[in-house]
Amino acid sequence: MSAAHLRSSRPPPHHAEDGERDFSPRLQTTALWWEAHEPKPLPEIDLPKTTRVAIIGAGYAGLNAALELIREGIDCIVLDAHEPGFGGSTRNGGIVSGGVNVGKRYLAKAMSETEAAPFLSNASDAFSHIESVIAKNTISCGWSKTGYFLGAWSKSHYAAMDKKVAMLNRHAGSEASLVPRERQREHIGSEYYHGGMLIGRTAHLHPALYYRGLLDLCAKAGVKIASKTPVTNLRESNSGWTVTTPRGSIAAGDVVIATNGYTGDVTPQFKRRVVPLGSYIIATEELPPELTAAVSPKNHSFADTRRVLTYYRLSPDGKRLIFGGRAKFGMTDPVETAPILYRFMVDRFPQLKGTRITHAWTGNVAFTLDEMPHMGKLDNLHYALGCNGSGIAMMSYLGHQSARKIVGRANSVCAFDHPEFPDHPLYNGSPWFVPWLGRYFRVRDWIDRRFN
Ligand SMILES: Cc1cc2nc3c(=O)[nH]c(=O)nc-3n(C[C@H](O)[C@H](O)[C@H](O)COP(=O)(O)OP(=O)(O)OC[C@H]3O[C@@H](n4cnc5c(N)ncnc54)[C@H](O)[C@@H]3O)c2cc1C
Repeated sequence: MSAAHLRSSRPPPHHAEDGERDFSPRLQTTALWWEAHEPKPLPEIDLPKTTRVAIIGAGYAGLNAALELIREGIDCIVLDAHEPGFGGSTRNGGIVSGGVNVGKRYLAKAMSETEAAPFLSNASDAFSHIESVIAKNTISCGWSKTGYFLGAWSKSHYAAMDKKVAMLNRHAGSEASLVPRERQREHIGSEYYHGGMLIGRTAHLHPALYYRGLLDLCAKAGVKIASKTPVTNLRESNSGWTVTTPRGSIAAGDVVIATNGYTGDVTPQFKRRVVPLGSYIIATEELPPELTAAVSPKNHSFADTRRVLTYYRLSPDGKRLIFGGRAKFGMTDPVETAPILYRFMVDRFPQLKGTRITHAWTGNVAFTLDEMPHMGKLDNLHYALGCNGSGIAMMSYLGHQSARKIVGRANSVCAFDHPEFPDHPLYNGSPWFVPWLGRYFRVRDWIDRRFN
């Protein structure tokens, strides 16, 4: 996927199932967020011959790691194959959840509550970390701590929320509560769900402005960032690593892998531990205030318990709906997924039928085989990987924690730093099974909605 491809703007296809013209004559296939900050190459820097730490990937994880290292007086360089911000960090939905996604395995009975507790507690720390980075540095990025409504796709999903509310409140301080179906209209202008869960300690932000804020902090602190500098080889030596790029090699004491959904062949040991998945988003045209107030009366962000997940929120200026989800399982053109997302949106908000879609875009997230984010050290490489779709707070935090570990001030209780980072003999980094997973999810969703 090239930046040029993503920048293209072209007429959307006519879609018979839409029944009417719902799309703007020219659909912009770059993120709406890029109108405020578009990833661009930084002024070219000479690559140093040596550095204490080389960080691969200039997303939230890489920049948070660099900021902490430099604060501790550790020399480092961040290398990115593209323009800094090319990855998920300027394309995402901007929904900052403080742990709600981390307890999924507990609910799936893979973990006891005792086992899940430290993960939830650290997910809550991740929320505190991003909140304090933004507040301390007065990053103007539309930070709105206005809560998150998780809609129950079926009655059984609603019934299961009871346990999750208690767990989130006990271990993540989530300020969570149940919202029965008859009261959901107070939170969302939709009858689509069987009630839901409200989580107070969550926020939404402008992802590219948060990213730009981090870039500005890096510039102020003197962090070296090399754009358009793909790392093509890593070789271990007695004194650390030789990091090879087309612009020359760097001898680094330590290397941090922060490549998430863009992890490639340079690190096959990580490529086979993360599954890249495309996530897709559309933005509506500017809507009348009475319509946005009806859709989202309390400016929450939203997601649902459907396996073919959707997530949405109003734009920071409150004028548009930003609507994302797993429109396709696999990597495809956002022009193809726009009509699918539009349909998902109108299913939830029939009052938006006929609304024009002005932007449609995509980016990669990274799933792990245990659905947990990970940091740590493997083959002597530090890593912060595996956002599982929720990485604004988490990847910022894991980048920061990786740096703390390198400078010897690790938070010794960081639960995500544990030696088990599972791979699978049938997965070598090429996600062949994802379309099948998509089919399975659709069937399971259908069964749950119809019978449970
Ligand atoms: C469409 C979409 C919606 C999302 N919505 C949300 C949301 O609402 N809430 C939420 O919490 N999270 C969301 N996410 C996830 C979130 O965006 C990511 O978890 C987060 O941005 C990951 O940050 P990162 O720093 O780990 O990686 P990224 O920002 O993806 O950066 C990885 C970087 O690594 C670079 N790279 C890869 N290989 C090399 C190499 N060999 N050499 C040099 N550089 C390399 C890439 O160029 C890339 O810039 C969403 C993601 C997407 C794509």
